[in-house]
Amino acid sequence: MKSVRIGPHKFALVYVDKVDEEDNWGHYSQADQNILLSNALLPEGSKWAEILLHEIFHGVADEREIFDDDKTEERAVKLFAMGFAQVLKDNKTLFRAILKALA
Ligand SMILES: [Zn+2]
Repeated sequence: MKSVRIGPHKFALVYVDKVDEEDNWGHYSQADQNILLSNALLPEGSKWAEILLHEIFHGVADEREIFDDDKTEERAVKLFAMGFAQVLKDNKTLFRAILKALA
């Protein structure tokens, strides 16, 4: 996977050795229109999936202007990403059914 569309914009998935000074696994950037992901997440496994969902949720939160403060956004995004990853894992045909319903 090389990019993700969030709202009207396409965000490149860029893999780097060091995402930021806090050694986060990923970082969403509206300004750069990309999502940085740590090379340590490869090959794509459960941590990769959770972090990618996390950054996509930041993108949706930003695009929809959901949160007024960063701390609340970070907590909500973290918990939604972990919870949604588990729901997908526990319901392997769910995504296909949702996509079909949205078509
Ligand atoms: Zn975050």
